Amino acid sequence: MSSMEKSYNLRDRTLRFVDREDEMDFLYEEFSSPRAEMSCGHAVTPMSLTNWCRRLLEEGKSKFVCGQPNCNREWPYVEVRKMALLTPEEREYFESTMALNAARECFNSKTCPGCKFLVTRKDESNLSVRCQICTVKKGRPYEFCWQCLNKWRGQPNANHCDNDGCINQALKTLRTCPEIVFESIKNVRGCPSIRACPTCGSLLEHTSKYCKSIVCPRCKVKFCFVCLKIMTECTKTSGPYEPCSSRVAPRQTSIPVWHR
Ligand SMILES: [Zn+2]
Ligand SMILES: [Zn+2]
Ligand SMILES: [Zn+2]
Ligand SMILES: [Zn+2]
Ligand SMILES: [Zn+2]
Repeated sequence: MSSMEKSYNLRDRTLRFVDREDEMDFLYEEFSSPRAEMSCGHAVTPMSLTNWCRRLLEEGKSKFVCGQPNCNREWPYVEVRKMALLTPEEREYFESTMALNAARECFNSKTCPGCKFLVTRKDESNLSVRCQICTVKKGRPYEFCWQCLNKWRGQPNANHCDNDGCINQALKTLRTCPEIVFESIKNVRGCPSIRACPTCGSLLEHTSKYCKSIVCPRCKVKFCFVCLKIMTECTKTSGPYEPCSSRVAPRQTSIPVWHR
């Protein structure tokens, strides 16, 4: 980041200068640059615009909207880039963060069956997701099921809703997968061959018949497939080729959520 305060050149004829207060200067930093108008009609300086857009990116947004209440107009990135006089380093940060945030939004967004708008899920451990648009339109809480994409029926915080055919494939796999028989570890019975990683929830199949440890490719945490403890915990009381001191962990009935 440069410590120099960016400022508009009054001779730049592509800008629309105005003599008003800086309407994106939410921290009252009073930048000295002349003010220019954005496409939505609000006045900015390059510094206030940069700071506001940086804040949006830090909040996980991938689009730029005016910060004035009652405006909320979206500014195209080309406009932001020009009006904020983004430096090459800032451009790089803006562009890579926009792409990252867009990918994350896409992963955490699904189409609401009520209004067909994309809804972003905040709580990854809850299958019933509130749609704000439908809630306002109907005048009562509207939730849909993240799994079967129908209006939510039944108890909140369940593994599935009460609609026909709403099952969690992952949980079904955990419940029904065959058991693994370790050749080198005696007296280990009833260990399923597929587990959800206790750290991040990824489904993993154990193929080694000798060693009970496995490294999760997603979160890179090494854990014990038998007792589901972190490997360093398990090996405190038993060797890697011995039965665990705590018993075989039962089949999992919920998928752990990764708290990064
Ligand atoms: Zn505006
Ligand atoms: Zn909706
Ligand atoms: Zn459902
Ligand atoms: Zn993992
Ligand atoms: Zn263990």
